[in-house]
Amino acid sequence: TAAAETRKFEAEVDQVLHLVTHSLYSHKEIFLRELVSNASDACDKLRFESIGNPDLLAGDPELRIEVSWDRDARTITVRDTGIGMDRDEVVANIGSIASSGTRRFLEALGQDRKADARLIGQFGVGFYSAFVVADRVTVLTRRAGTPAEAGVKWESDGRGEYTLGPATLEARGTTVVLHLKEGEDEFLDGWKLRSLVRKYSDHVAFPIRMPKEAPAAGDDKDKDKQEPGTQWETANDASALWTRPKPEITDEEYRNFYKSLGHDFNDPAAWSHNRVEGSQSFTTLLYLPSQPPFDLLMGARDERKGLKLYIKRVFIMDAAQELLPAYLRFVRGVVDADDLPLNVSREILQQNRQLEKIRGACIRRVLDLIEKLSRDEPEKFAAFIKAFGNTLKEGIVEDPGNRERIAKLLRFASTKSEGEERTVSLDDYIARMAEGQDAIWYITADGHRAAAGSPQLERFRAKGIEVLLMSDRIDEWMLGHLHEYAGKPLRHVAKGELPLDEAEKKRQEEAAQAAAPLLERIRSLLGEAVGEVRVSARLTDSPSCLALSEWEMAPHLAHLLREAGQ
Ligand code: ADP
Ligand code: MG
Repeated sequence: TAAAETRKFEAEVDQVLHLVTHSLYSHKEIFLRELVSNASDACDKLRFESIGNPDLLAGDPELRIEVSWDRDARTITVRDTGIGMDRDEVVANIGSIASSGTRRFLEALGQDRKADARLIGQFGVGFYSAFVVADRVTVLTRRAGTPAEAGVKWESDGRGEYTLGPATLEARGTTVVLHLKEGEDEFLDGWKLRSLVRKYSDHVAFPIRMPKEAPAAGDDKDKDKQEPGTQWETANDASALWTRPKPEITDEEYRNFYKSLGHDFNDPAAWSHNRVEGSQSFTTLLYLPSQPPFDLLMGARDERKGLKLYIKRVFIMDAAQELLPAYLRFVRGVVDADDLPLNVSREILQQNRQLEKIRGACIRRVLDLIEKLSRDEPEKFAAFIKAFGNTLKEGIVEDPGNRERIAKLLRFASTKSEGEERTVSLDDYIARMAEGQDAIWYITADGHRAAAGSPQLERFRAKGIEVLLMSDRIDEWMLGHLHEYAGKPLRHVAKGELPLDEAEKKRQEEAAQAAAPLLERIRSLLGEAVGEVRVSARLTDSPSCLALSEWEMAPHLAHLLREAGQ
């Protein structure tokens, strides 16, 4: 084993530490949730590995977490009997930024390096939150299955450097000791710590033990003395929340569970908790966030997290990719299946037929949940669709089977709505279609103002026909796959002709005849540059416009493709 040495944090760790300690100040207490959640992850990992290798549990079969404190030494200790870390793992996980999300986060912050707690909470910077309340943190850890001498001691004051050395540790797992800063004594209190555990970590599926306190016997000073041979008592509920019957779970518990899952400080917009019994039994607890997580904005379609797969309460893996299509990547939650083999691998999962069923059920649940939100809670729905509407649009292309259901949930700007806000549903549109109107009309453009100000709309305005204004990058792609809704075709205003009534048809024919010499002249002037020159009913004020035949690419898309070099 190498001797103790001093090392520098990666530059990014330094930055994150600085950010975390400064911006989490008003949320100090979450350090406990973060450390307990790491301890719980470590127990999950060991439980999973021990399925194939029961010897890993030798010496102490119980997976648990212990939270204790010492008034005199001014320390708080969080210990787990989980997987532990070897030396390389400590360096990789604690001395550097393991998560690429955090890296992107730092890049995205750009120059001013300011972030609020909400953003920080969404990245894997949990461990560093210890430095919000501590000016020194000691980690003692030994990986399960390695001998006592293989332990590692890591220590840092969170200012640029850490020391790393060997340690002989009788117990496997990880012990994190926080040496509290001046002024943080409020946390050296059994009652306070216990209430934090209950508040943030009640649902953790492993027992969280705390020293049993002597019944308050007069003298306050002795109250928190922990005698040697500490008696422990379990402070949390220790049942996996999703396994409990729905009526027994409070909204508060559902919300807290969400916060522990999704690295999100905000309340979820909605959730759905279901148990399916039958030839194949499983439980789903799925949440819709109220605000977009940062990684979603960054377009990280392939690094999805947030949907955990359990098999009979054993955590197996983050399986967002396997359980939900990309267009629902904002969903957070848990799926617990009864009948999958515990030694399932990602490869097996991808072609597992049982999982196909569960996946179908998840999609249905999520769409139900969004529909319900749109019916029952219009304000929350509006915020949700503002955050995730464009992500949902990908489903029009990716999930043809649910195309109609998804289209129903989308909201658009239109010539009959106020400003840029996307508030009009296709059903709203159909409900106010003009007499004799048989299509849903839309226009696409680079931006809302270009769409709303297009001369293509004049004729529609004059006839009182509503036009949907599409100006999001994804719209063109989506519309390429959304040809009709509720039996009504969707048409681009620049494609084909408007339906005319008889009088109009007559007038147009006359106009065409009168203009024939003019058209001939324009044709000869423009030559090859245009396909056709014709008299149009499209305009009322502008003298001319470019139109597309039914099968041509919209100008906006043509422009995008040119930009992409095609
Ligand atoms: P996250 O939990 O989101 O990965 P953290 O900063 O909380 O981010 O932890 C960083 C990493 O350090 C974890 O992913 C894990 O590999 C390791 N780690 C932290 N605490 C423990 C622990 N108690 N036992 C084992 N590994 C741990
Ligand atoms: Mg963590």
